[in-house]
Amino acid sequence: MAVRREMNILVVGSVAYDSVETPKGKNDHQLGGSATYFSVSASFFTRVGVVAVVGKDFAKDDLSVLEGHGVDTSGLETDSGETFRWAGKYTDEMNAAVTIETRLNVFEHFRPRLSPDHRRAPYLFLANISPDLQHAVLDQMSARPRLIACDTMNLWIEIAKPRLLELIDKVDVLMINEAEAKQLTGEKSLVSAAAQLVKRGLQALVIKRGEYGAVVFHREFTFATPAYPLARVVDPTGAGDSFAGGFMGYLAAVDDTGGEAMRRAAVAGSVMASYTVEEFGLKRLKSLTQKEINGRFGAFVELTRFHPLGGGQGLPLVQKV
Ligand code: AMP
Repeated sequence: MAVRREMNILVVGSVAYDSVETPKGKNDHQLGGSATYFSVSASFFTRVGVVAVVGKDFAKDDLSVLEGHGVDTSGLETDSGETFRWAGKYTDEMNAAVTIETRLNVFEHFRPRLSPDHRRAPYLFLANISPDLQHAVLDQMSARPRLIACDTMNLWIEIAKPRLLELIDKVDVLMINEAEAKQLTGEKSLVSAAAQLVKRGLQALVIKRGEYGAVVFHREFTFATPAYPLARVVDPTGAGDSFAGGFMGYLAAVDDTGGEAMRRAAVAGSVMASYTVEEFGLKRLKSLTQKEINGRFGAFVELTRFHPLGGGQGLPLVQKV
Protein backbone atom coordinates (compact mmCIF):
# COMPACT_ATOMS: atom_id res chain seq x y z
CA MET A 1 0.00 0.00 0.00
CA ALA A 2 1.40 3.40 -0.98
CA VAL A 3 1.67 5.70 2.00
CA ARG A 4 2.23 9.42 1.35
CA ARG A 5 5.38 10.78 2.95
CA GLU A 6 4.90 14.49 2.13
CA MET A 7 2.80 16.72 4.40
CA ASN A 8 -0.57 15.04 4.28
CA ILE A 9 -2.62 16.42 7.18
CA LEU A 10 -2.77 19.99 8.36
CA VAL A 11 -4.05 20.61 11.89
CA VAL A 12 -4.97 23.83 13.64
CA GLY A 13 -5.62 23.71 17.36
CA SER A 14 -4.14 24.49 20.73
CA VAL A 15 -0.58 23.85 21.87
CA ALA A 16 -0.78 24.19 25.60
CA TYR A 17 0.56 23.77 29.07
CA ASP A 18 -1.98 21.81 31.10
CA SER A 19 -2.42 21.30 34.82
CA VAL A 20 -4.30 18.09 35.34
CA GLU A 21 -5.69 16.34 38.39
CA THR A 22 -7.10 12.82 38.23
CA PRO A 23 -7.82 10.18 40.90
CA LYS A 24 -4.36 8.78 40.06
CA GLY A 25 -2.44 12.01 40.81
CA LYS A 26 -1.66 15.53 39.78
CA ASN A 27 0.60 16.97 37.13
CA ASP A 28 1.25 20.69 36.72
CA HIS A 29 2.50 22.30 33.54
CA GLN A 30 2.46 19.28 31.26
CA LEU A 31 2.71 19.68 27.51
CA GLY A 32 -0.77 19.38 26.01
CA GLY A 33 -3.22 21.02 23.65
CA SER A 34 -5.54 19.61 21.05
CA ALA A 35 -3.11 20.08 18.15
CA THR A 36 -0.26 18.52 20.13
CA TYR A 37 -2.04 15.27 20.97
CA PHE A 38 -3.53 15.11 17.48
CA SER A 39 -0.29 15.60 15.61
CA VAL A 40 1.80 13.20 17.71
CA SER A 41 -0.89 10.52 17.36
CA ALA A 42 -1.36 11.06 13.59
CA SER A 43 2.43 11.18 13.06
CA PHE A 44 2.55 7.39 13.46
CA PHE A 45 0.56 7.14 10.21
CA THR A 46 1.57 10.07 8.02
CA ARG A 47 3.22 13.52 7.83
CA VAL A 48 1.40 16.21 9.79
CA GLY A 49 1.82 19.98 9.74
CA VAL A 50 0.67 22.04 12.71
CA VAL A 51 -0.68 25.61 12.68
CA ALA A 52 -0.71 27.18 16.15
CA VAL A 53 0.99 29.74 18.36
CA VAL A 54 3.07 29.40 21.52
CA GLY A 55 4.54 31.98 23.87
CA LYS A 56 8.14 32.80 24.65
CA ASP A 57 7.88 30.41 27.61
CA PHE A 58 7.48 27.39 25.33
CA ALA A 59 10.35 25.00 26.10
CA LYS A 60 12.73 23.70 23.42
CA ASP A 61 12.25 20.17 24.77
CA ASP A 62 8.54 20.45 24.07
CA LEU A 63 9.16 21.59 20.51
CA SER A 64 11.45 18.56 20.19
CA VAL A 65 8.54 16.28 21.11
CA LEU A 66 6.72 17.42 17.95
CA GLU A 67 9.79 17.54 15.75
CA GLY A 68 11.02 14.19 17.05
CA HIS A 69 7.82 12.72 15.63
CA GLY A 70 8.44 14.29 12.22
CA VAL A 71 5.73 16.92 12.70
CA ASP A 72 6.18 19.95 10.43
CA THR A 73 6.31 22.87 12.88
CA SER A 74 6.90 25.62 10.29
CA GLY A 75 3.34 26.82 11.03
CA LEU A 76 3.97 27.03 14.78
CA GLU A 77 4.50 30.71 15.55
CA THR A 78 6.13 32.10 18.67
CA ASP A 79 4.61 35.30 20.02
CA SER A 80 5.40 37.52 22.98
CA GLY A 81 3.20 36.49 25.88
CA GLU A 82 2.44 33.16 27.44
CA THR A 83 1.49 29.82 25.94
CA PHE A 84 -2.19 28.75 26.16
CA ARG A 85 -3.01 27.26 29.56
CA TRP A 86 -5.70 24.86 30.59
CA ALA A 87 -6.39 23.40 34.04
CA GLY A 88 -8.78 20.52 34.43
CA LYS A 89 -9.87 17.89 36.89
CA TYR A 90 -11.31 14.41 36.53
CA THR A 91 -13.30 12.97 39.37
CA ASP A 92 -14.06 9.26 39.61
CA GLU A 93 -16.01 9.86 36.39
CA MET A 94 -12.95 9.67 34.12
CA ASN A 95 -14.92 10.31 30.91
CA ALA A 96 -15.26 14.09 31.11
CA ALA A 97 -12.96 16.76 32.47
CA VAL A 98 -14.19 19.65 34.55
CA THR A 99 -12.42 22.78 33.34
CA ILE A 100 -10.97 24.79 36.20
CA GLU A 101 -9.28 27.45 34.11
CA THR A 102 -8.70 28.37 30.46
CA ARG A 103 -6.22 31.12 29.57
CA LEU A 104 -6.05 31.72 25.83
CA ASN A 105 -2.97 33.96 26.21
CA VAL A 106 -1.16 34.13 22.83
CA PHE A 107 -4.19 32.60 21.08
CA GLU A 108 -6.24 35.71 21.84
CA HIS A 109 -4.76 37.70 18.95
CA PHE A 110 -3.41 34.88 16.79
CA ARG A 111 -4.06 35.30 13.06
CA PRO A 112 -2.70 32.25 11.21
CA ARG A 113 -1.01 32.72 7.83
CA LEU A 114 -0.70 29.46 5.93
CA SER A 115 2.28 28.68 3.69
CA PRO A 116 1.57 27.59 0.08
CA ASP A 117 2.43 23.99 1.05
CA HIS A 118 -0.01 24.09 3.98
CA ARG A 119 -2.78 25.52 1.81
CA ARG A 120 -2.60 22.43 -0.41
CA ALA A 121 -2.91 19.82 2.37
CA PRO A 122 -5.29 17.06 1.24
CA TYR A 123 -6.57 16.35 4.78
CA LEU A 124 -7.50 19.06 7.24
CA PHE A 125 -8.26 18.71 10.93
CA LEU A 126 -9.73 21.69 12.75
CA ALA A 127 -8.94 20.63 16.31
CA ASN A 128 -10.54 22.22 19.34
CA ILE A 129 -9.88 25.97 19.33
CA SER A 130 -12.09 29.00 18.72
CA PRO A 131 -14.41 28.62 15.70
CA ASP A 132 -13.02 31.93 14.34
CA LEU A 133 -9.56 30.40 14.13
CA GLN A 134 -10.93 27.21 12.61
CA HIS A 135 -12.65 29.33 9.93
CA ALA A 136 -9.48 31.39 9.38
CA VAL A 137 -7.55 28.25 8.47
CA LEU A 138 -10.30 26.69 6.37
CA ASP A 139 -10.75 29.92 4.40
CA GLN A 140 -7.08 29.92 3.38
CA MET A 141 -7.07 26.46 1.79
CA SER A 142 -6.33 26.86 -1.92
CA ALA A 143 -8.32 23.81 -3.00
CA ARG A 144 -10.98 22.01 -1.03
CA PRO A 145 -9.22 19.27 0.97
CA ARG A 146 -10.34 15.70 0.30
CA LEU A 147 -11.58 15.47 3.85
CA ILE A 148 -12.17 18.15 6.47
CA ALA A 149 -12.90 17.12 10.04
CA CYS A 150 -13.42 19.25 13.13
CA ASP A 151 -13.75 19.04 16.88
CA THR A 152 -15.01 21.54 19.44
CA MET A 153 -16.01 21.71 23.12
CA ASN A 154 -18.72 23.00 25.46
CA LEU A 155 -17.03 26.40 25.86
CA TRP A 156 -17.35 27.22 22.14
CA ILE A 157 -20.89 25.82 21.96
CA GLU A 158 -21.78 28.22 24.79
CA ILE A 159 -20.08 31.37 23.51
CA ALA A 160 -19.83 30.95 19.71
CA LYS A 161 -22.62 28.60 18.60
CA PRO A 162 -23.71 30.40 15.37
CA ARG A 163 -20.10 30.61 14.14
CA LEU A 164 -19.58 26.96 15.05
CA LEU A 165 -22.68 25.81 13.16
CA GLU A 166 -21.48 27.79 10.14
CA LEU A 167 -18.24 25.79 10.34
CA ILE A 168 -19.98 22.45 10.79
CA ASP A 169 -21.88 23.13 7.56
CA LYS A 170 -18.55 23.27 5.70
CA VAL A 171 -16.90 20.11 7.07
CA ASP A 172 -17.23 16.39 6.26
CA VAL A 173 -16.70 14.85 9.69
CA LEU A 174 -17.56 16.24 13.12
CA MET A 175 -15.89 14.54 16.11
CA ILE A 176 -17.38 15.46 19.47
CA ASN A 177 -18.56 13.75 22.62
CA GLU A 178 -22.08 12.76 23.56
CA ALA A 179 -22.73 15.72 25.89
CA GLU A 180 -21.54 18.17 23.23
CA ALA A 181 -23.82 16.62 20.57
CA LYS A 182 -26.80 17.02 22.90
CA GLN A 183 -25.78 20.56 23.91
CA LEU A 184 -25.35 21.56 20.26
CA THR A 185 -28.72 20.25 19.13
CA GLY A 186 -30.87 20.55 22.24
CA GLU A 187 -31.84 16.89 21.78
CA LYS A 188 -32.06 14.54 24.76
CA SER A 189 -31.30 11.38 22.80
CA LEU A 190 -27.94 10.80 21.13
CA VAL A 191 -29.53 9.14 18.10
CA SER A 192 -31.81 12.15 17.52
CA ALA A 193 -28.89 14.54 17.99
CA ALA A 194 -26.85 12.54 15.48
CA ALA A 195 -29.68 12.52 12.94
CA GLN A 196 -30.01 16.30 13.25
CA LEU A 197 -26.29 16.90 12.80
CA VAL A 198 -25.80 14.46 9.89
CA LYS A 199 -28.78 16.09 8.14
CA ARG A 200 -26.80 19.34 7.97
CA GLY A 201 -24.62 17.67 5.31
CA LEU A 202 -21.92 15.77 7.22
CA GLN A 203 -20.51 12.54 5.82
CA ALA A 204 -20.19 11.30 9.35
CA LEU A 205 -20.59 12.36 12.95
CA VAL A 206 -18.13 10.58 15.22
CA ILE A 207 -19.17 10.45 18.85
CA LYS A 208 -16.37 9.85 21.35
CA ARG A 209 -17.69 8.06 24.41
CA GLY A 210 -14.63 7.69 26.63
CA GLU A 211 -14.48 4.26 28.28
CA TYR A 212 -17.52 3.22 26.22
CA GLY A 213 -15.72 3.61 22.88
CA ALA A 214 -16.90 5.54 19.85
CA VAL A 215 -19.81 5.52 17.42
CA VAL A 216 -19.62 6.57 13.76
CA PHE A 217 -22.98 7.90 12.60
CA HIS A 218 -22.17 7.78 8.88
CA ARG A 219 -24.88 8.97 6.49
CA GLU A 220 -25.10 5.37 5.17
CA PHE A 221 -24.56 3.28 8.32
CA THR A 222 -23.85 3.32 12.03
CA PHE A 223 -20.71 1.64 13.37
CA ALA A 224 -19.57 1.25 16.97
CA THR A 225 -16.16 0.36 18.37
CA PRO A 226 -15.53 -0.41 22.03
CA ALA A 227 -12.75 1.22 23.99
CA TYR A 228 -9.86 -1.10 24.84
CA PRO A 229 -10.62 -2.57 28.29
CA LEU A 230 -7.92 -1.10 30.54
CA ALA A 231 -7.55 -1.91 34.23
CA ARG A 232 -5.84 1.41 34.97
CA VAL A 233 -6.58 4.80 33.41
CA VAL A 234 -4.15 7.45 34.68
CA ASP A 235 -5.03 10.61 32.70
CA PRO A 236 -7.78 10.82 30.06
CA THR A 237 -6.54 14.23 28.82
CA GLY A 238 -5.88 14.10 25.11
CA ALA A 239 -7.82 10.89 24.51
CA GLY A 240 -10.21 12.65 22.13
CA ASP A 241 -7.43 14.30 20.15
CA SER A 242 -5.38 11.10 20.04
CA PHE A 243 -8.48 9.32 18.76
CA ALA A 244 -8.86 11.98 16.06
CA GLY A 245 -5.16 11.65 15.20
CA GLY A 246 -5.46 7.90 14.69
CA PHE A 247 -8.72 8.32 12.77
CA MET A 248 -7.46 11.02 10.38
CA GLY A 249 -3.94 9.56 10.27
CA TYR A 250 -5.26 6.25 9.03
CA LEU A 251 -7.58 7.80 6.40
CA ALA A 252 -4.82 10.08 5.12
CA ALA A 253 -2.25 7.25 5.04
CA VAL A 254 -4.46 5.02 2.88
CA ASP A 255 -6.01 8.05 1.11
CA ASP A 256 -9.48 6.58 1.38
CA THR A 257 -12.51 8.35 2.84
CA GLY A 258 -15.04 5.61 2.10
CA GLY A 259 -17.26 3.94 4.68
CA GLU A 260 -15.14 0.80 5.15
CA ALA A 261 -12.05 2.93 5.72
CA MET A 262 -13.95 5.01 8.29
CA ARG A 263 -14.81 1.88 10.27
CA ARG A 264 -11.12 0.90 10.42
CA ALA A 265 -10.18 4.51 11.16
CA ALA A 266 -12.44 4.46 14.23
CA VAL A 267 -10.57 1.40 15.49
CA ALA A 268 -7.20 3.04 14.73
CA GLY A 269 -8.41 6.05 16.74
CA SER A 270 -9.44 3.84 19.63
CA VAL A 271 -6.02 2.15 19.63
CA MET A 272 -4.22 5.50 19.90
CA ALA A 273 -6.57 6.87 22.59
CA SER A 274 -6.19 3.69 24.64
CA TYR A 275 -2.43 4.27 24.89
CA THR A 276 -2.67 8.00 25.68
CA VAL A 277 -4.75 7.45 28.83
CA GLU A 278 -2.24 4.99 30.34
CA GLU A 279 0.07 7.80 31.55
CA PHE A 280 -0.07 11.54 32.28
CA GLY A 281 0.09 13.85 29.27
CA LEU A 282 2.04 12.66 26.24
CA LYS A 283 4.28 10.29 28.21
CA ARG A 284 2.87 7.07 26.78
CA LEU A 285 2.54 8.37 23.20
CA LYS A 286 6.18 9.44 23.30
CA SER A 287 7.41 5.92 24.02
CA LEU A 288 4.92 4.14 21.76
CA THR A 289 6.22 1.72 19.12
CA GLN A 290 4.75 0.55 15.83
CA LYS A 291 4.72 -2.99 17.22
CA GLU A 292 2.57 -1.90 20.16
CA ILE A 293 0.14 -0.08 17.87
CA ASN A 294 -0.30 -3.10 15.64
CA GLY A 295 -0.47 -5.41 18.66
CA ARG A 296 -3.42 -3.49 20.07
CA PHE A 297 -5.05 -3.21 16.65
CA GLY A 298 -4.95 -7.03 16.55
CA ALA A 299 -6.46 -7.13 20.04
CA PHE A 300 -9.35 -4.95 18.79
CA VAL A 301 -9.94 -7.34 15.87
CA GLU A 302 -10.23 -10.16 18.41
CA LEU A 303 -12.32 -8.07 20.82
CA THR A 304 -14.93 -7.40 18.15
CA ARG A 305 -14.75 -10.73 16.26
CA PHE A 306 -18.21 -12.12 15.80
CA HIS A 307 -19.52 -14.87 13.53
CA PRO A 308 -23.18 -14.81 12.56
CA LEU A 309 -24.83 -18.23 12.88
CA GLY A 310 -24.14 -20.67 10.05
CA GLY A 311 -26.61 -20.95 7.20
CA GLY A 312 -27.76 -17.35 7.55
CA GLN A 313 -30.52 -18.20 10.01
CA GLY A 314 -31.35 -15.90 12.92
CA LEU A 315 -31.11 -16.68 16.63
CA PRO A 316 -32.44 -20.06 17.85
CA LEU A 317 -35.70 -18.81 19.33
CA VAL A 318 -38.54 -20.80 20.83
CA GLN A 319 -41.51 -21.03 18.43
CA LYS A 320 -44.43 -19.19 20.02
CA VAL A 321 -47.93 -20.18 19.01
P1 AMP B 1 -9.19 16.09 24.87
O1 AMP B 1 -8.55 15.28 23.81
O2 AMP B 1 -10.60 16.41 24.54
O3 AMP B 1 -9.00 15.51 26.25
O4 AMP B 1 -8.46 17.53 24.88
C1 AMP B 1 -7.43 17.84 25.80
C2 AMP B 1 -6.71 19.12 25.43
O5 AMP B 1 -7.62 20.16 25.08
C3 AMP B 1 -5.89 19.66 26.58
O6 AMP B 1 -4.54 19.33 26.38
C4 AMP B 1 -6.15 21.17 26.59
O7 AMP B 1 -4.97 21.92 26.53
C5 AMP B 1 -7.00 21.40 25.37
N1 AMP B 1 -8.07 22.39 25.61
C6 AMP B 1 -8.87 22.53 26.70
N2 AMP B 1 -9.73 23.56 26.56
C7 AMP B 1 -9.48 24.09 25.33
C8 AMP B 1 -10.04 25.18 24.57
N3 AMP B 1 -11.03 25.94 25.05
N4 AMP B 1 -9.55 25.41 23.31
C9 AMP B 1 -8.58 24.64 22.83
N5 AMP B 1 -7.99 23.62 23.48
C10 AMP B 1 -8.44 23.33 24.72
